[in-house]
Amino acid sequence: MHQLAIHSFDETCQSFCPLCEQRLLCVAGLHLVIAETRKPVCRSCGHGRAPGLSALLDLAKIAEQAGRRSRHLLTPSMETMLALARAAENYSAAAPRIALAGAH
Ligand SMILES: [Zn+2]
Repeated sequence: MHQLAIHSFDETCQSFCPLCEQRLLCVAGLHLVIAETRKPVCRSCGHGRAPGLSALLDLAKIAEQAGRRSRHLLTPSMETMLALARAAENYSAAAPRIALAGAH
């Protein structure tokens, strides 16, 4: 089974998902990839094989968009805040539970 990772692409590329062979257009930015080969995988395969990592990637992308949109604002818009909260909640629900020392 392939291990997935998040990788940042500097340029847009066309490829095929190595897991389902679906055609992919990878715009520059963050994508889920096969860790060993760094070949991008489609959203469906990424979500199915690594839901926590996929949710983390969504959260990172929404945070990046929010940062760009709100760069010159005193406070982000309510729409931006709700999108961030939704992505954080999705990540929290999908991420593996981490045992914290001293946590109950
Ligand atoms: Zn795929």
